[in-house]
Amino acid sequence: MKNSLSKRFTIAMVSLAVGGILFSAILIQLALGWNFERYLGNVQEEQNRLIMDTLVELYSESTSWQAVRLSTMHVGSTTGAQIRVFDTSGRLVADSLSGMMQGMQGRRWERVQEARSQTYTYALTVTGIKVGTVEITYLGQQGLWTAEALVFRRTVQQSAFITGLIAIVVAILVASMLARRLTGRLHILTAAAEKWGRGTFAARANVDGNDELAVLGETMNRMALSLAEQSDLRRKLTGDISHELRTPLTTIQSYLEAFQDGVLPANTDNVHSVLEESHRLGQLVNDLQELTNAEFHGRNVSLQPLDLANFITAEVERTRPLLQQKGIALQLELPPTGIYGLADKALLARVVSNLLMNAYKYTSQGGIITVRMFTRGEEVGVCVADTGIGIATEHLPYLFERFYRVDPSRTRATGGSGIGLAIVKELMETMGGRVEVASEPGQGSRFCFYLALTESK
Ligand code: ADP
Repeated sequence: MKNSLSKRFTIAMVSLAVGGILFSAILIQLALGWNFERYLGNVQEEQNRLIMDTLVELYSESTSWQAVRLSTMHVGSTTGAQIRVFDTSGRLVADSLSGMMQGMQGRRWERVQEARSQTYTYALTVTGIKVGTVEITYLGQQGLWTAEALVFRRTVQQSAFITGLIAIVVAILVASMLARRLTGRLHILTAAAEKWGRGTFAARANVDGNDELAVLGETMNRMALSLAEQSDLRRKLTGDISHELRTPLTTIQSYLEAFQDGVLPANTDNVHSVLEESHRLGQLVNDLQELTNAEFHGRNVSLQPLDLANFITAEVERTRPLLQQKGIALQLELPPTGIYGLADKALLARVVSNLLMNAYKYTSQGGIITVRMFTRGEEVGVCVADTGIGIATEHLPYLFERFYRVDPSRTRATGGSGIGLAIVKELMETMGGRVEVASEPGQGSRFCFYLALTESK
């Protein structure tokens, strides 16, 4: 991989380390130089004081320049400095260099001159009287540095250099190790994502540790799980839909073929059966359309405070004639108006009518359907209870799934496709609510939906 993350990470780490080491090396060098200059300055001044003491002592013992001249040459040659002595009239009476450099000419002399450093000037005072002036000039840095100081400085520089080299090697090793570990874990994630892309949702990204990458791995695994579920659901749904469509279609086809072959007469009864099947087909397509709409409804749902007692009464009353026809009693147990739930009018109407129609379908003559409303905490609940056939406990967890029917043959007779409750659940979730069921076979069923309580507009 060109410009891979690991390469870039290693380069960045090593550059940082080298930069840091160079920076500290420069600082060490500067600090070392500065402190040595200071130290040497002190040494020089101390030496100058000794030279001056010697000169004063010699002059006061002999009060002649002769002894001063000889000792100047000696001291000059041992200290590597040029010592010049002037009398009070400014005449040069002694110069250590004239003796040291006798016969020195041309380039060598120039080199000595180039090596001149700072000149110190002192008054030569004997018993309080100034007898002359002394100039001390050191020739060349090397002259100033004592051998120990030079060795010490070189040792410090060498150790700094070796330490720097070791630090760079360690930085390269650590950086490449870290980079390999980091990219190794990224490769695990990439490999898993590639497998998911090919449809192998069983693959998992097992990233060790408890840092951000491990969390990312876990999140991606959860996403894979949900993708697998979605994929299974889609497969199941496609299978279910084709199965549901095939049944009425096959019936219609076989009737029509029988008409064509003259096996069955196209009389009113037979045509009625064909029509019934085609209605069933149409109903199924409508249900599917409604479910799709419910799933996509979240985008333009308009939630508003709804006076629920009023709303439910109006919706329920609409079904009263149908229930009366079948001999089913309808009871309303609603609190007074003024309880507001947050809902979308059109969606809630479909929820109520779906639940009422189910209660109607699965309750026989003489049964009772009760619609009750109550508040609980921050919620308002509405229950549609019937005294119908009821549902066995093992079916309850699957009741809200698409195409789930407790008894496929019986519900086919009643025209159900197993989509109604899936629509109810989808619509309730779209409105931020939920739906629950409680039932016992032979005793009846109770479907309750809950909405958030709210204030009036
Ligand atoms: P359907 O169109 O088949 O009624 P639903 O999704 O509305 O589809 O219901 C799913 C299944 O739940 C039904 O097939 C039925 O077995 C059961 N069911 C729903 N409501 C009731 C009820 N009130 N009483 C008994 N069973 C019910």
